[in-house]
Amino acid sequence: MDRTIPTVTGTRLPDSLCTHTPKCPTADSPDREAAHVVAGHPEQGWSLLCNAVLLFEDTGELLPDGRIVAPHRPVAALV
Ligand SMILES: [Zn+2]
Repeated sequence: MDRTIPTVTGTRLPDSLCTHTPKCPTADSPDREAAHVVAGHPEQGWSLLCNAVLLFEDTGELLPDGRIVAPHRPVAALV
């Protein structure tokens, strides 16, 4: 699979970086985007959430198991 992934740590992330209470939604959860941002890089257009999901500016996501979620920006947000 050919895709461009921002290098976060150079190694595979652990399944969860979450140290929050209550625990944030896991990467498998439909609420995964509700997890806290642990590393935001708005200048590069992505944020790392504490459940190891990479959330992109266009609302696309890269899950820790390598799956890609297509952008799903609400239509109402389009200008
Ligand atoms: Zn968390």
